[in-house]
Amino acid sequence: MDIKKREVETMSPIRFYNTYSKQIEEFKPVEPGKVKLYSCGPTVYSHPHIGNFRSFLMADLLKRFLEFKGFEVHHIMNITDVGHLLDDADEGADKLEEAARREKKDPLEIAAFYINSFNTASEMLNIKPADSFPRATEHIDEMIAMVQTLIDKGHAYVVGHNVYYDVTTFKDYGKLSGNTLDDLNAGARIEVNSEKKNPQDFALWKHDPKHIQQWDSPWGRGFPGWHIECSAMSVKYLGEQFDFHTGGEDNIFPHHECEIAQTEGATDKQWVKYWMHGRFLMFDGEKMSKSKGNLYTIQELVEKGFKKNAIRYALISSHYRQNYNFTFDGLKAAETAIDKIGQCVFTVKDKANPATTVRQEVSAFTEKAIHDFGDALSDDLNISKALAAVFELVKEANKLDDPTTSEAEAIVEAIQKIDSVLGVLDASEESIPAEIMEMAEQRKQAKLAKDWSRADALRDEITSRGYAIEDMPRHEYRIKKID
Ligand code: AMP
Ligand code: ZN
Repeated sequence: MDIKKREVETMSPIRFYNTYSKQIEEFKPVEPGKVKLYSCGPTVYSHPHIGNFRSFLMADLLKRFLEFKGFEVHHIMNITDVGHLLDDADEGADKLEEAARREKKDPLEIAAFYINSFNTASEMLNIKPADSFPRATEHIDEMIAMVQTLIDKGHAYVVGHNVYYDVTTFKDYGKLSGNTLDDLNAGARIEVNSEKKNPQDFALWKHDPKHIQQWDSPWGRGFPGWHIECSAMSVKYLGEQFDFHTGGEDNIFPHHECEIAQTEGATDKQWVKYWMHGRFLMFDGEKMSKSKGNLYTIQELVEKGFKKNAIRYALISSHYRQNYNFTFDGLKAAETAIDKIGQCVFTVKDKANPATTVRQEVSAFTEKAIHDFGDALSDDLNISKALAAVFELVKEANKLDDPTTSEAEAIVEAIQKIDSVLGVLDASEESIPAEIMEMAEQRKQAKLAKDWSRADALRDEITSRGYAIEDMPRHEYRIKKID
C-alpha cells in the first residue's frame, strides 16, 4: 500500500454540527476538493465589537482549517448597509439611517467609515479577507429579481407598495430554528401592521417615504428587507447550492430562517448544506451587543495594552458552540499561551547544533502533533483538544537538550503548519497608532473635498512614519505597517 493512501485512511473524517439537522454530520463538499462558504458580515453602523469578531473568527478558523486539509475555499462575506432595522422583527428605524441621523452624515458615508473600521480590526486580528465583500446597496437589482421570482411562484404578495413573504407557502419554514408557526403565532405581539396575511410574514420590499435610501422597483420606490440581501448575493457569488453558511446564534431566527424560505422558495433546490452558528460572547453575564453598549472594540483593547494576537487567541480558544465569557484575565492567559509557543520556537532554534540527523522520536512527536491537531479540528472544530496537541508538541520540544538543526527545523515547520490555522504567531504585533488612524481619516476627507495636495501630504506623512495606506474602492482603505 502506498504511504499517501495509508495516510488518507488513518485520518478521521471531518465532521461538523449542522444547525439545520441538529446533528453532527460528516462533511462532504458539494464539489470535490472545493468549499464555498458564505458568512453574514457586519452591519456597518458602528464599530464592530469583539462579540462580532468571535463570529467572524469562527468563520476564519473554519476556513483556515479547511485550507489546512487541502480544500480550496471560496469565501463571501456580505456588508449590510441598508434594510437591517433596529428590531429584527421588521420594525423600528434602519440601523444605518439611525446612525446617519445621529452623526449628521449620509448613510453611505456612515457605511464607508465603519467598513474601514471593520477592515482595520480584521487586519489586526489576522483574519484572512473573504474573496469578496458584496454590499447590499450595490445589489438592489439582484434582490428585486429574486422578489419578483417569489411573487411569480406564489410565495410573496404585494400590498400597496410593500411586498411580503407568505410563510405558510414554504413547508420547511421553522426547520432551522425549530420554531413552528403555531408557536410563533401564539407568542406574536398584537400586530400593528395588519397588511400581512399572517403575523410571521416578513417584508421583502418596503415603502417608507421617510427612509433616506430609496430605489425604484416594480412596486414603487422603496428599500429591501434585511434578509433578501443574503439570499440574492450568496446565489450570485456562490450559486444555488453551496457548502457552508455561518453567523452568530442570533442570526438563526429570523434572519437565516427567512433566507432559507426566500432562496429555496425561489430556486426549488436545497440551498446550504451546513449551517454553522457561533454562540455569543458574553460580558458580565450578558450578550455583548451594540444596542446594549456593553462592548469592547479591538482598538480599545489594544489601547489598553493587550496584544492583537492574544485577542485573536482568546476569541478562538473556546469551542464555538459554547458561550465565551470575556474577561481581562482570559486575555492575559492568552498572552501567556502564545508566549509559550513563541518561546519554544526561539529556544529550539537557539539550542540547535549543526548536525542534520533527525531522531525517530522527534519526527514521531512532530508528526503526531500535526495529526492530532487536524483530528481534533475535524471533530466539529474541537479547539481545546487541538490546542492540547500544540502544547504536547511544545512540551516534547522543550525537553530536547541538544536538538540538531534539522530537528529544530522539523519542530518549527510543525508549529508553522499549525499556526497556518491558529494565525497567532504570524500576526505582526505592532498596532496602528491612533494618530495614524486619524491622519488616514483626514486624508480620506481631503480626497472627498478634492484637496489633492493635502491628501498627498498626509499620505507622505503617514509613509514617513512607517505605515502604508492601501486604497480600496469607494474611499475605503487599509493601513499596514511597512516591514
Ligand atoms: P451585526 O453587525 O449586528 O449584523 O452582527 C455581525 C455578526 O456578529 C452576526 O453574525 C452576529 O450574529 C454576530 N454577533 C453579534 N453579537 C455577538 C456576540 N455577542 N457574540 C458573538 N457573535 C455576535
Ligand atoms: Zn445574512
